[in-house]
Amino acid sequence: MIVDLHNHTLLCNHASGSIDEYIKKAIETKTEYFGFSDHAPMDFDPKYRMNFNQMNTYEKDVLDAKLRYKDKINILLGYEVDYLKGHMDDRVLNAKVDYLIGSIHFIEGWGFDNPEFIGRYEEQDIDEIWQKYFDTIEEMANTKLFDIVGHLDLIKVFKFMPKKDITLIARNALIAIKKADMVIEINVAGYRKPIKEAYPSSSLLQLAFKLEIPITFGSDAHEPNQVSLFNDEVIKLAKSVGYIECAYFENRKRKFIKF
Ligand SMILES: [Zn+2]
Ligand SMILES: [Zn+2]
Repeated sequence: MIVDLHNHTLLCNHASGSIDEYIKKAIETKTEYFGFSDHAPMDFDPKYRMNFNQMNTYEKDVLDAKLRYKDKINILLGYEVDYLKGHMDDRVLNAKVDYLIGSIHFIEGWGFDNPEFIGRYEEQDIDEIWQKYFDTIEEMANTKLFDIVGHLDLIKVFKFMPKKDITLIARNALIAIKKADMVIEINVAGYRKPIKEAYPSSSLLQLAFKLEIPITFGSDAHEPNQVSLFNDEVIKLAKSVGYIECAYFENRKRKFIKF
């Protein structure tokens, strides 16, 4: 991928491989801007993320790698932050990074993308679940704390689809994203999940394009061999909608590159 801003490291306790292995794969696949955005620490669900004491190590390791590889690739530093009201922490929000991805992994404390809790989908009206998810995305955008919306329609992960038109459910969230001047990512993790397609779907991407919301790309790699997978598919998807450029960030400043 020419720009790839969503990648994890060992520190989150559910990824494997060294920083160097990720970067080597990115160089091999001709990535120009490769960003690490590991799960930021939070006082909720701590086992799937680094802890606050590890932030220094993480940031230093990525910045060291940035220098080491500076003639071959541009390495960027970020965090994927779980947006969860009451659990946001200034140590993360004010970290000196290139960008912050804001992601929703919880609806009212329910880890809806965790197969362990899949039963909960049967307990509520599916349209309501989807609406709650996108209402939370809207709330997150309104905080203006983040640069990128992570995997915009993650709620489709297990393929429990709403009866209602998805673009109607997501419309206000996308308008809030535009107002907050955020970017959405085309994230390929969905290809590795039951839904078997990128986040977001083509219909949501079309709506984003109409609203002039910029895009970026993310492997969401949790192991080095996932870096740049499905590149051809996402470039095709982005172009089919009309996108010709994608965003990356340096020191929280947005820049664009054609793909
Ligand atoms: Zn993860
Ligand atoms: Zn995520």
